[in-house]
Amino acid sequence: MAIERTFSMIKPDATKRNLTGAITKMLEDAGLRVVASKRVWMSRRQAEQFYAVHKERPFFGELTEFMSSGPTIVQVLEGENAIAKNREVMGATNPADAAEGTIRKAFAQSIGENSVHGSDAPETAAEEIAFWFGGNEIVG
Ligand code: ADP
Repeated sequence: MAIERTFSMIKPDATKRNLTGAITKMLEDAGLRVVASKRVWMSRRQAEQFYAVHKERPFFGELTEFMSSGPTIVQVLEGENAIAKNREVMGATNPADAAEGTIRKAFAQSIGENSVHGSDAPETAAEEIAFWFGGNEIVG
């Protein structure tokens, strides 16, 4: 299996509860390596651009308001099969459906305020990494 990179965010509900370290530890324990990381407070407009794929969904307004409501940690994670591995550690979108041992089972508050984001495919990973990071900010 090739080494991959994926994009991850620790969302405002989690940074507010001081869970940055606990979540990062779960990612690292799963074999993922943080090769870029920074704390950003995104604007409503940045949230609308980042989540443009969801703009027709009924929760778009709620999602972009939440994502611009406080600080977020944006990260690039590297490892074998990193995209799928990160999705596995994150758990299901709705914490009520998330498996034991996942980040969302442990920490998510609702389907919207669900603590983490992770890219779902190689193309979106590349786009999302490029949205937040310049090449010289990623140190493998
Ligand atoms: P995931 O983050 O698991 O890939 P989606 O791509 O379906 O999930 O949705 C993106 C984000 O939009 C979710 O993580 C969540 O924060 C929010 N979201 C999804 N569905 C809902 C919903 N029904 N109500 C409110 N927010 C939602």
